[in-house]
Amino acid sequence: MRSCPICGNRKIFSSYFKLMDSCPRCDYEFSREDGYWVGAVIMNTAVTEGLFLLLFIVASIAMAPDIDWVTLLVIGAATNLIFPVLFYPFSKTIWMAFDLVFMKRLER
Ligand SMILES: [Zn+2]
Repeated sequence: MRSCPICGNRKIFSSYFKLMDSCPRCDYEFSREDGYWVGAVIMNTAVTEGLFLLLFIVASIAMAPDIDWVTLLVIGAATNLIFPVLFYPFSKTIWMAFDLVFMKRLER
């Protein structure tokens, strides 16, 4: 999932967080326009909150009827602090793929 949306090249990050400006294999330019990455931020937020909601519901059901709110708070804080950081590069590549599919639909 951390690969070029055009050619599938997996070496498009110079570090875990740093996406290159363009694909070294097919030359596809990753940053299309100013504000392009807002979509990746929205995608990251949506996936994080979806995961948090799922974990919150599952943990609440598992602990019912004596819900340990401190444990839930720790789960919630960990989910919302750690996951979006780890998911950051994936949100970029998923957003690029999503954008490409959407753009091709518009061209038809
Ligand atoms: Zn490529």
